[in-house]
Amino acid sequence: MDDATIYALGTPTPSRARPGALSVIRLSGPRAGDALARLTGRALPPARRMALRSLKHPESGEVIDRGLAVWFEAPHTETGESMAELHLHGGRAIVGGALEAIGALGFCRLAEPGEFTRRAFENGKLDLTQAEAIADLVAAETGEQRKLALKQMDGALGRLYEDWRRLGVATLAHLEAVIDFPDEDLPEGLGEEVRANIERLQAEIGQHLNDRRGERLHDGLSIAIIGPPNAGKSSLLNLLARREAAIVAETAGTTRDVIEVHLDLGGWPVVLADTAGLRDSDDKIEQEGVRRARARAAAADLRLLVLDASSDWQGEMKTVVEGTTTWNAATDVVVVNKIDLAPTKAPNVVAVSATTGAGVPQLLVQLERSAVALMGEGAGAVPLTRARHRGALQECQDSLARALVAPEVALAAEDLRLALRALGRITGTVRVEELLDVIFRDFCIGK
Ligand code: GDP
Repeated sequence: MDDATIYALGTPTPSRARPGALSVIRLSGPRAGDALARLTGRALPPARRMALRSLKHPESGEVIDRGLAVWFEAPHTETGESMAELHLHGGRAIVGGALEAIGALGFCRLAEPGEFTRRAFENGKLDLTQAEAIADLVAAETGEQRKLALKQMDGALGRLYEDWRRLGVATLAHLEAVIDFPDEDLPEGLGEEVRANIERLQAEIGQHLNDRRGERLHDGLSIAIIGPPNAGKSSLLNLLARREAAIVAETAGTTRDVIEVHLDLGGWPVVLADTAGLRDSDDKIEQEGVRRARARAAAADLRLLVLDASSDWQGEMKTVVEGTTTWNAATDVVVVNKIDLAPTKAPNVVAVSATTGAGVPQLLVQLERSAVALMGEGAGAVPLTRARHRGALQECQDSLARALVAPEVALAAEDLRLALRALGRITGTVRVEELLDVIFRDFCIGK
């Protein structure tokens, strides 16, 4: 980290096809105020108040645009440093000229991706889970993803992990007392309280790890469309996606790979994957397709079994349900397609026609119901959202388990210390430089 004053365009780069009404350029760093005064040729406006200013090139004095300028005084700013913003007209020549003008000042440099947020983290304005939530908020595609990101940005997840870490630190202090004062009247071994605390941590973290809602919501609920060849899986996917995503063909066994479509089901993000028909085949490529379909079906959060109403669909259903170990009757959905050919009515199945569109609204209702069951509010606790957090928590659990069976108090203390380090890495209390680089590299420039 250096303390250079950085700048970047915070809004999308205007193009000829898409100029924008506005473009916002941000500056952060010790000389942000200087820069604003030089670029406007006037004294700084009062902090946090927008002021109309002409933006001038520092060398030629040429006016580049007239817009609004804001000055934010450190330390009560987003990054914790002095900041300035220029709200300009959104044109290519304006943005290009403004960036050039800031560069010509000679004491500012272009920001790296995520550098504003990284500075906010470095200055204690947010923890790593909150920084990640900002990236999630920008990337959110559905309303529910946005809500989850906002909750995390408020610090709910960070607080949960910090509370666990604090309990661990207090427990470690107990253990260290036993090590430092072995002759004192302290309990033998780990002692009741230490053991109880570690077990409580294990139980709470274990429950959190078992809750997959947040990751599903973050990544999109994975739905595998499965069923025999020619049942209408691709047709149904196309209908749901409202575009030609999968090849629909008359000959059986044409969908050989897995095709994915992202959908927003009433705010719930889902990723629908069309898989090759589940049937035995001699064709090598098709066999591979079937193998992938089976693996996909087993790993998916939800299975959408599509059957042909004009075939022995009850028999097919029985075979697939019994042959799929991960089949979950509570949330998986059975669709009987082609009811235009063979009208069908049966309990616990959704009857549709991909050709006429009949039954599709009912199917969407059913899918949304399952989506809520798999991603909706649980016991009110904030759910885990990222693989990075899951990995660290798993490591923490492993260390806690070792602490409980450690043959010596000193070894138990060391395991507990490792568990706390794993927790600390999630929020950034424990700094790991390479980790920070990875996290912030994924941000956009200007964020
Ligand atoms: P997949 O192999 O399960 O993906 O099946 P496709 O979507 O490729 O469909 C197989 C054939 O059934 C195609 O000729 C479709 O046009 C036809 N088909 C799909 N859905 C319906 C339907 O609801 N009614 C009728 N009559 N034909 C359908």
